[in-house]
Amino acid sequence: MITLQDPIDMHIHLREGEILKNILPFSAKYFSACLAMPNLKIPLTDTNKALDYKKEIQHNAQELNCDRFSPIMSIYLNESITKDELLKAKKADIRILKLYPKGATTGSENGLQEILNQKTLEIFEIAESLDFILSIHGESNGFSLDREFEFGEIFKQIAINFPKLKIIIEHLSDRRSIDLLHQYENIFATITLHHMIMSLDDVIGKGLNPHHFCKPILKTPKDRDAILELALSGDEKVSFGSDSAPHLQSNKLKQNGAAGIFSAPVLLPKLCEIFEKYNKLENLQKFISDNAINIYKLKNIPNKKITLIKEKYKVQDSIRIDNDFIVPFLANEELIWRIKD
Ligand SMILES: [Zn+2]
Repeated sequence: MITLQDPIDMHIHLREGEILKNILPFSAKYFSACLAMPNLKIPLTDTNKALDYKKEIQHNAQELNCDRFSPIMSIYLNESITKDELLKAKKADIRILKLYPKGATTGSENGLQEILNQKTLEIFEIAESLDFILSIHGESNGFSLDREFEFGEIFKQIAINFPKLKIIIEHLSDRRSIDLLHQYENIFATITLHHMIMSLDDVIGKGLNPHHFCKPILKTPKDRDAILELALSGDEKVSFGSDSAPHLQSNKLKQNGAAGIFSAPVLLPKLCEIFEKYNKLENLQKFISDNAINIYKLKNIPNKKITLIKEKYKVQDSIRIDNDFIVPFLANEELIWRIKD
C-alpha cells in the first residue's frame, strides 16, 4: 500500500465544455490541485478570463462531488499585459504567467513571435517585482530534436537579467536542459510521465503511433533515462507536471494531427510502479507534491490522502465523447497499482 499526501499536477490541459466534463474526474478525484493551462480556444490572456475558466472547472468538480480540488490558474503571456493587470491577477491569487513561443504547440497561435523584446522585458520586470512565476514552453522553431536545447539561450538570458524571477522549464525533455537547473538558482522544471519512460522510437519506431505524438517531441533513450533519473532523485527543483493533453481521435488522426498525450487516467498508478521498480518510493512524495508546494509557494492545499493498493487491472481503451472518443495513455495495458476508491 502506498499513501500519497496531496498529489499535485503542475501542468495539465483540462479543456472546456464536454471534454472538460468527461476528463475532469481523472484529475479532480485523485489530485489536490492542478495547474490548468491557459491555451484554450480563446486563450486566458487576462484575470477575468482565467477566473471565468476557474469557475467552469470548479462547477464541474462540484458536480462530481470533488470539493477538495483546487484548480491553480495561469495567464497566457501576451504583449498587452500591464502592471495593473498583474496586480489584479495577484489579488485574485493568480501568480503564474505561461509563455508560449508563437506556433510551438497546440493553442500557441497567440504566443510570442519574439521572446525578448522591449515589451516582454518590461513584463518580466514587473512579474519579478510582483513575485510571479514564469512558466515557459521552451522550444525554438529549429530541428525538432534540438528545439528545447536551442531555446536554452533564452532561458539563460531571462535567468541572468531577472535573478529573482522564478522560471520553470515546462515538460523538460532534453538532457542538455538539466544543466540549467544546476547553473541558475532561479530555473526550475516540471517533468511529465511520458518523457520519463518513452523515447522517439515509441512514436515512430514500430509504425507511427499518433497517441505518443506530443510536444516537445519524445527524444533519445539517453534523454529519457536522464529525465527518469532526475525525477526519481526527488530533486527539489523539479515538480511533476503531466502535460496530460486529451485530443479527440478524429483530431489525432487527421492531417497535421494534434500533439498531446492524455495521461491523466494512469498517472498515479504508473508513477508508483516506476518509483517502486527503481527503489525510489521514498522520493515519490517530493516529486508528486512537496516540491511543487515549495517552488510555487502553494497555500490552502485541501489535505487529501490518496491510497494505492497492489492490484492488477487493464487501462480502458477509450473515453467516449459524443460521437468521438479519446484514447488514454497506456490504453489496454496492464497496471499493477490501483487507486483505492
Ligand atoms: Zn502543455
